Amino acid sequence: MAVHEFDAVIVGAGGAGLYAAMELSRQADLRVAVISKLYPTRSHTGAAQGGIGAALGNMEEDHWEWHMFDTVKGGDYLVDQDAAEILAREAIETVYDLEHLGLPFDRTPDGRIAQRRFGGHTHHFGQGPVRRACHAADRTGHMILQTLYQQCLRQNVRFFNEFQVLDLLLEDGVACGVVAWEILTGELHTFHARAVMFATGGWGRIYKVTSNAHTLTGDGAAICWRRGIPLEDMEFYQFHPTGIYRLGILMSEAARGEGAVLRNRHGERFMERYSPTLLDLAPRDIIARAMITEIREGRGIDGKDYLHLDFTHLPRQVLEEKLPDITSFARIYLGIDPLRQPVPVQPTAHYAMGGIPTDVWGRVVVDEKNTVLPGLYAAGECACVSVHGANRLGTNSLVDILVFGRRAGRDMVRYLREAERVSLRRNPDRDAREQVERLLRSEGKEKVAALRQELAEAMMEYCGIFRDGAGLQKMLGILGDLRERYRRIRLDDRGRVFNQDLLEAWELGCLLDVAEATVRSALNRTESRGAHMREDYPDRDDENWLKHTLLYRNSDGTFAFRYKPVVITRFQPQARTY
Ligand SMILES: Cc1cc2nc3c(=O)[nH]c(=O)nc-3n(C[C@H](O)[C@H](O)[C@H](O)COP(=O)(O)OP(=O)(O)OC[C@H]3O[C@@H](n4cnc5c(N)ncnc54)[C@H](O)[C@@H]3O)c2cc1C
Repeated sequence: MAVHEFDAVIVGAGGAGLYAAMELSRQADLRVAVISKLYPTRSHTGAAQGGIGAALGNMEEDHWEWHMFDTVKGGDYLVDQDAAEILAREAIETVYDLEHLGLPFDRTPDGRIAQRRFGGHTHHFGQGPVRRACHAADRTGHMILQTLYQQCLRQNVRFFNEFQVLDLLLEDGVACGVVAWEILTGELHTFHARAVMFATGGWGRIYKVTSNAHTLTGDGAAICWRRGIPLEDMEFYQFHPTGIYRLGILMSEAARGEGAVLRNRHGERFMERYSPTLLDLAPRDIIARAMITEIREGRGIDGKDYLHLDFTHLPRQVLEEKLPDITSFARIYLGIDPLRQPVPVQPTAHYAMGGIPTDVWGRVVVDEKNTVLPGLYAAGECACVSVHGANRLGTNSLVDILVFGRRAGRDMVRYLREAERVSLRRNPDRDAREQVERLLRSEGKEKVAALRQELAEAMMEYCGIFRDGAGLQKMLGILGDLRERYRRIRLDDRGRVFNQDLLEAWELGCLLDVAEATVRSALNRTESRGAHMREDYPDRDDENWLKHTLLYRNSDGTFAFRYKPVVITRFQPQARTY
């Protein structure tokens, strides 16, 4: 067994992990490692298209208070407002920091960072859309990832690429390392560190139609949950309105920010009926529900389960210069030229609002009193700080990963100045080894790919945009059955070298865990708020449910809920209309 000694170990090389690593590695005496199951620039941050929200006010008047208000209202008032204030304020300096680090933002004619409209972002506290999204064409995430990775290399961060973390090490309630599987060799490595951070991204792969890559399987959230850490607000999972029909590949909201509109089978711009002020730039939960309503009422295209995203009135230059990637997606995947024909779209599973609970310094907290688990940090999509509440606004994830990735990095520096090194127990990799061996030796007949597909299809049907108690109960039963069958899998490849079969089997365990947390939390919350729409409880219920869910999985396999109050500072909850 290989053992590596570091001061800080970061799991995940997306925007959140890399920003934290960059901050830490500014301290020459600290040894910093980033472990990633993917080559860093293949992390999903690289797929982010439309932009990063910051009230720079470069193209029209804008203020961080407006950004904060939009974030709180967009999240249906479940947002912690102390965190939202930090997000909106620090977004501005973060964008300028990125610019100074070399990120090639698009420019206005007079050389400032260009900005465009995005869903739910408004001026004067909801009066109308505002240009707030800073962008590099529709490749903003790609540019962020390249910029941060270069800086990390320059500052000698040690990368362990294609290492899959399987377990978190805790001793006497203090985080002290992780265990990872080296994909190339099949060797287990123990990383002993004084601080550990999870930045492992989301879990869109619990759903069939999703914008998320095959690798987004909720590993970090599942690992923490198995170690007794609760998961927060898991019932809130976002469907983005415009995924390519059946494929889920994203047509960024930047498309609508640049003027594309949604139409039904009659060619109607139906959002006029659902959101008279913001129209096609209403928040995602509202548009996704409007689309499903149109489809249910027979106004889908040709009576089917999709609608049209219409670019045909836009100038060629807008598509070629501002939306080149999504234009080529339509051409490549559908053979459609969006200049001439509308693109068939349907809502696609996109973003986890919930996750590993943290405070505003990225420190993982384990209860409703915000008790910190020493040495453990989380940031980015796997974490819940909570700046997105019940529904995230477009462009706010990139802000979140950078602002809170940076804050986590800075707090880890502070922590490392005081923290002692905790000794590892004997055989720290024992549990991880058992997990792997069990999968390799399993003698059943079940196929991982089939179980994964059944899970994703059932989640789409019973825990999608609209849910109800009966469907969620049914889904719990399906999950029980899938778990049973998961114990009886058989791998085609039982070797150790580059065994993708094994890793997908291990990831299926994570998918089952995060799906279970999602379904249990959705069943428990008997109200509708943001992305969580219970048809049997269609109204928001502030009296009983203006609180965060914390779901624990106990060591005996039972589950327990606890609740955390929402932090409200500036904006009292109001009816949410657009
Ligand atoms: C198509 C698309 C477009 C988007 N566009 C926008 C946008 O315009 N604006 C916006 O704000 N947001 C956007 N988002 C959302 C945003 O991109 C993501 O939420 C964000 O990038 C997540 O970053 P992250 O750092 O948390 O994780 P990721 O970038 O997903 O990185 C996760 C990292 O964790 C590693 N990892 C995971 N599990 C393990 C493990 N077990 N062991 C080791 N390593 C592991 C992976 O290798 C990877 O390096 C978009 C999302 C998608 C899918």
